[in-house]
Amino acid sequence: MIQLTYKYPSPAYGENWNRRRFAIFKSVGYICQNCGNYAKGELELHHLKPYKISKDNSAQNLAPVCRGCHKRIHKEYLEKIGVL
Ligand SMILES: [Zn+2]
Ligand SMILES: [Zn+2]
Repeated sequence: MIQLTYKYPSPAYGENWNRRRFAIFKSVGYICQNCGNYAKGELELHHLKPYKISKDNSAQNLAPVCRGCHKRIHKEYLEKIGVL
């Protein structure tokens, strides 16, 4: 199952996860990388390659996107792979 939010990060992400998330958000100026809106406090990290498959938490695999975009990305992704 794909996680839609990272409010309760899995321990697999490591204890630096929160600090790393905010460092990434800050590095993009709190701009959603999908719609380009300023979204401080609304940003979530999307794994470009699903973490379950890639086990990749490096910045290259993480896209900061706003909550709305993130939902949409997952919905489209799930539709594409035929889950919905
Ligand atoms: Zn967005
Ligand atoms: Zn995602």
